Amino acid sequence: MSTPTRWNPKDEAKHLPIYRHKTKLIRAVKDDTFLLVTGETGSGKTTQLPQYLHEAGFSRNGKIGITQPRRVAAITVAQRVAQEMQCTLGREVGYQVRFDDCTSQDTVVKYMTDGCLLREVLADPALSQYSVIILDEVHERSLNTDILLGLLKKIFFNQSKAAKQRSHPLKVVVMSATLESDKISAFLGNCPVFAIPGRVFPVTCTFGFAVGPKDLESTGYVKEVVKVALDVHTSEMAGDILVFLTVQTEICHVNPPPLFSPPTGRSVIERACDLLFEKAESIDYRYDVEDQTVEGLLILPLYGSMPTEQQRQIFQPPPPRIRKCVVATNIAATSLTINGIKYIVDSGFVKQLNHNSRVGMDVLEVVPISKSEAQQRAGRAGRTSTGKCFRIYNKEFWEKCMPEYTVPEIQRTSLTAVILTLKCLGVHDVIRFPYLDCPEERFILEALKQLYQFDAIDRKGSVTKLGELMVEFPLHPGLTRALLKAASFGCQDLLLPVAAMLSVENIFIRPGKPENQKEAEEKHKGLAAKTGGMNDFATLLSVFQSCKDSERPSAWCKDNWIHWRALKSSFNVETQLRDILFRLQQKRDFPKETHDCNKSELFRRCLCSGYFTNVARRSFGKVFCTMDGHGSMVHIHPSSSLFDQEGELDWIVFHDVLVTSRMYIRTVCPIRYEWVKDLLPKLHEVDVYELSSVAREEVTEEEVTKWETREAAKRQQESSSEDL
Ligand code: ADP
Ligand code: MG
Repeated sequence: MSTPTRWNPKDEAKHLPIYRHKTKLIRAVKDDTFLLVTGETGSGKTTQLPQYLHEAGFSRNGKIGITQPRRVAAITVAQRVAQEMQCTLGREVGYQVRFDDCTSQDTVVKYMTDGCLLREVLADPALSQYSVIILDEVHERSLNTDILLGLLKKIFFNQSKAAKQRSHPLKVVVMSATLESDKISAFLGNCPVFAIPGRVFPVTCTFGFAVGPKDLESTGYVKEVVKVALDVHTSEMAGDILVFLTVQTEICHVNPPPLFSPPTGRSVIERACDLLFEKAESIDYRYDVEDQTVEGLLILPLYGSMPTEQQRQIFQPPPPRIRKCVVATNIAATSLTINGIKYIVDSGFVKQLNHNSRVGMDVLEVVPISKSEAQQRAGRAGRTSTGKCFRIYNKEFWEKCMPEYTVPEIQRTSLTAVILTLKCLGVHDVIRFPYLDCPEERFILEALKQLYQFDAIDRKGSVTKLGELMVEFPLHPGLTRALLKAASFGCQDLLLPVAAMLSVENIFIRPGKPENQKEAEEKHKGLAAKTGGMNDFATLLSVFQSCKDSERPSAWCKDNWIHWRALKSSFNVETQLRDILFRLQQKRDFPKETHDCNKSELFRRCLCSGYFTNVARRSFGKVFCTMDGHGSMVHIHPSSSLFDQEGELDWIVFHDVLVTSRMYIRTVCPIRYEWVKDLLPKLHEVDVYELSSVAREEVTEEEVTKWETREAAKRQQESSSEDL
């Protein structure tokens, strides 16, 4: 009789394509400073390579750091690897993401977001704690990964001063799916490429009928996705389903984006799961399903902000005779691999952060995916056997609405925060920094302009004292500016909770059922009224404090229709921001100012110093006009406590913009013109040419003249198009 053996994930890992190349891979890392490793998604790069390098002794001289563009991926993968290495998460294997550090002195294999590593480079450009840095998921082309790629090239390629300070040379491994490997290798001085051969099985793709070019604005695709998933369940042979949806149809601006998806009410994924569940209940398994071995459907959502415990379920095989259906965001396209998937249902959409020139800021929006992304999604069905992919959109949508490739984030989002980071790292020539793909020059100039407006850089483009303080905070520069202003007055307690709450998901619950909706609205109105009902920022502050002071905070939240999990994480974020601030305040030259106004005015004046780029003036009724040079017409969002106010609302500042058929502003506060009078001219006076002059110091006269001519032509073109 055989003795039952304990299931060991380590044995499972021996079947992964990467396993056969273990020795050669270790050799390749030893041989060169830079190495590019490519391989199909699911071949074991992310989970296995760090372990191989650890076993081979690389961690004796320092940590092995692995970056991920997505925070959920960093956490889940670290959990998995800790399990494989049979250690407690946070000991030998740990992770660090924004506002959540699960590492210790013992940590040698550290998964982290690319944003976290960027902050570490800032504190220590030689990365002296590390022996190996693995930049993972480079094909995703996230902004921070792209910047890290350029920085590591700059620091370690020609052995800069920082690199020479190290006692051991750093090894840099860049990992990517098979796309673009030639380009990346060429960028890294033709570094060696290690391609892990993987077997992929053919996947048949079919187009649907329901979604065409006319459906770009509607959210009808949720229903269609549910319908197709049910069809697959009833008419296809056994095998699990992976559905690709977006998190949210809602649009918001914030850069960096909130830690979690920005919800109000239920997310599209949760709605789709509910719908699927409802419909699947009426299936009669004796008659309705083609494959009689299938007797049930297990529906699981997968998105960034869901609790980690729930995420773990995704990877477990379903019970016998049950089909698993995972409804996921794009995270399941490359970052995470779920075994057993045979069918894909592709909605054709993705949520993406894009710079919106109409609003003049970054906006999270739902857009069609690229064709290469669609192929990647389909490929998830062919890992272990042949698969099928059902696209809900038609061929015309594919041809007319879907671009060939996804534009890298660096070419479509605000660069303000990364440009400040680069400047603080001593990279003054931000225009000719080694970018894998150059952002448009006007985006760089726009970032410089914004930094100048916030006093983070001076007229020459050099970082100011304030800029050096600002770069320490993982927040939007405007919010940081307001926080620092408050700290200079000694009233940081007003702004810290607000900054924390604006960094987590929306705390106000909007229930699905109409009868609950009314109650929730009343409760929220009551909370706003406590502070006079005239300032959404003050409401945030009051909610934070009331909950903190209550005896049973979770019950308090439930009673007030407040999202307890979100609020709890804002408590944590607030502590971390407070720690950063406290450390900075120990410096002798930390700015100090005095004031002679009351608390409410002081609070709003501090907000003005960060949000003067978001000032609007009443045009008529509830319509306001922004003062940032775009002169957009904006409306107060119904969720604001100022929505019902008439009275003295002439000037306001707001936190963000929601774009639907109208432009709505959310989290609003009335101000007085005198408070922004001296700041507003800054929005217009800037000469971007002067700001970037440092960047172009080494450029020849001739080039400058050419550049000037081009700029002048552009300006002329812009002004003539404005006339239209
Ligand atoms: P790659 O990075 O090449 O895409 P991974 O290392 O992410 O590949 O995945 C290798 C295998 O590990 C896959 O079969 C995947 O299902 C499994 N895996 C990864 N994370 C988890 C997890 N949290 N739980 C269970 N299995 C996991
Ligand atoms: Mg991976």
